[in-house]
Amino acid sequence: MRYAVIGDIHANLEAFTAVLNDIEKRGGVEKIWCLGDIVDYGPDPHECIELLRQRNHIAVAGNHDLAAIGKIDITEFYPDAAAANRWTSRQLQPADIEYLRNLPPVIEEDNFTLAHGSPRDPAWEYVISPDIAGENLPYFKSPFCLVGHTHKPVIFRYQENGDCSLDQFPDDIELTLGQDRLMLNPGGVGQPRDGDPRASYAIYDSESMVVHLYRVAYDIATTQAKMLECGLPVGLISRLSYGR
Ligand code: ZN
Repeated sequence: MRYAVIGDIHANLEAFTAVLNDIEKRGGVEKIWCLGDIVDYGPDPHECIELLRQRNHIAVAGNHDLAAIGKIDITEFYPDAAAANRWTSRQLQPADIEYLRNLPPVIEEDNFTLAHGSPRDPAWEYVISPDIAGENLPYFKSPFCLVGHTHKPVIFRYQENGDCSLDQFPDDIELTLGQDRLMLNPGGVGQPRDGDPRASYAIYDSESMVVHLYRVAYDIATTQAKMLECGLPVGLISRLSYGR
């Protein structure tokens, strides 16, 4: 079985479409695993939900998905994020709200646990260090875990002695899954933050047990023009150019 692992689409239809085209170019997948934050920040929340729902997929809830439907409050969001969230809430149609409302916080499937932030605190926790990844080990039973939320592609590897290491997840390696337990982040589709503005996602082949990360160029200018037209905050528009 081949799975595409995508996270943090963030209502960026151009990036999401480019990723879907790239998946097809690489022979397609049977299923999409979505790590949440489908909406918010970008200009096409409804369209991105629709496009995802047309595919065979499972998805967990991200903090922005929950905020957009009022399930968590946005007082902890910085001002640009709060403004974008209020705009996003107004764009959602009843079916979108119903879909987001039913997203679970955590899913376990085929050797992996999927969570947006972390298995310990799915909506909020950022796994940004080996220490935090280590603290999360007791919170998932599957050999491997997938998280999003930081928008940065990384590999956490758990050693037998309990130590955990952190590596960048480059797009030129085949990561073969073996004995070591891992926590992987495929980076962000719609708002990468690792200094590379290209969309980031991964494909997992459960037969060969290989995970491959891919980076995909997309039409950033079109997304930015739409955001400007929607009146979304300029900081959110400009950051797409830099992947920060
Ligand atoms: Zn996000």
